[in-house]
Amino acid sequence: MSLTNRILISMVVGVLFGSLLNLLLHGAGVPEVVRTALGDYLVGGLFDVVGRIFVASLKLLVVPLVLVSLICGSSSLGDRSRMGPIAVKTLVFYLGTTAVAVSVALLFAVFIGPGNHVALGVEANFQVSVAPPLADVLVDIFPSNPVKAMAEGKMLQIIVFALLFGYAISRAGEPGRRIASFFRDMESVVMKMVEVLMELAPYGVFALLAKLFSTMGIGAILDLAAYFFTVLAVLLFHALVVYSLMLRGFAGLSPRILIAKMRPVWVFAFSTASSGATLPVTLRTVERRMGVHNSVAGFTVPLGATINMDGTAIMQGVATVFIAQVYGVDLSMTAFFTIILTATLASVGTAAVPGVGLITLALVLEQAGLPVEGIALIIGVDRLLDMVRTAVNVTGDATVSIIVARSENQFDEQVYLDPRAGQDRDFSDEGVLPRA
Ligand code: ASP
Repeated sequence: MSLTNRILISMVVGVLFGSLLNLLLHGAGVPEVVRTALGDYLVGGLFDVVGRIFVASLKLLVVPLVLVSLICGSSSLGDRSRMGPIAVKTLVFYLGTTAVAVSVALLFAVFIGPGNHVALGVEANFQVSVAPPLADVLVDIFPSNPVKAMAEGKMLQIIVFALLFGYAISRAGEPGRRIASFFRDMESVVMKMVEVLMELAPYGVFALLAKLFSTMGIGAILDLAAYFFTVLAVLLFHALVVYSLMLRGFAGLSPRILIAKMRPVWVFAFSTASSGATLPVTLRTVERRMGVHNSVAGFTVPLGATINMDGTAIMQGVATVFIAQVYGVDLSMTAFFTIILTATLASVGTAAVPGVGLITLALVLEQAGLPVEGIALIIGVDRLLDMVRTAVNVTGDATVSIIVARSENQFDEQVYLDPRAGQDRDFSDEGVLPRA
């Protein structure tokens, strides 16, 4: 059976098994000894350990992969003058799609009115964190010490360093060529590590989901059903309709193929709820299975995982309207524009780890003049939504990467169209594109 299918099956089995455990652990008449064995040893012991090892092994790849891949990409970009336009296009698409995502979320939320019939009965105990000044945020993109940036996993700093390094390689003549070939070899080796660790995925995905669903009561969804399903509807709409239209309109490609090839990436995003931990798989898929040349993907995918979060912005858009409706606040037109702007920026500032979108929501609420304690209203269902929105976040990264690569002639359509390209166990390097 292919790895993709095994990963998909382990996802379904993990959710079912976890839900079953949840019933057992909370059901009446279950002997204490069974409860302890299942709860403490199986869920709190085995599943917890396997799940954490799996996430750690994915995260372990992120810094080496981003560094090496971006150095290769930027040093191999034949025509130096393309770097600027690629960066500008990528940023415009990332920010543009996020703004569209929030706007659609606001429309859906106003139209459906998920908070109109919800009674306010929440203790206001949400801690607001203070946002750092904009100047500091900007300065913080530039590393003063690349080793520290890598040690702390500061993605934007690593990107800046790698771009500069790659650029210098391309200008350094013969020594540059030697170093470039070293990094190309390194890239093949690190990609191989990704493939090897992906073999762990069926166990890791199962453990993460079984643990989550055994501890999370699905009952929370019932109380917040209107909110939950509104966010879910917008997420699906964005992933299946907006991205498909973009792919057709800007790149003339069939979205079906993207959807088919994204499936395993979605499972990773769904089970880890982290675009950061999913990054190695996203990058591999975009390069080897979808045909985006490394010179573009090496830049767009890590950047996207860090700043492009359409799914997060969608949750924030719906949540803001929901909270306004529950508190009986009427939002003005200005408030809506403020929400679009701040949710776009807040999603840029959201770290690619679980649950941070909920924290940056405080920024949006504050700007819109809404009570930040409202976040307590939606916390109960946030983990589940986080899993789905992370899948949307990484789809946005892949879609924009393809569009930018296509417009720059750094895209191999044959690879995109070939359903078997870069297939799971294809450990050969045939799927690798020739370098520019
Ligand atoms: N978990 C999301 C991600 O990593 C961020 C968030 O919305 O909390 O993409």
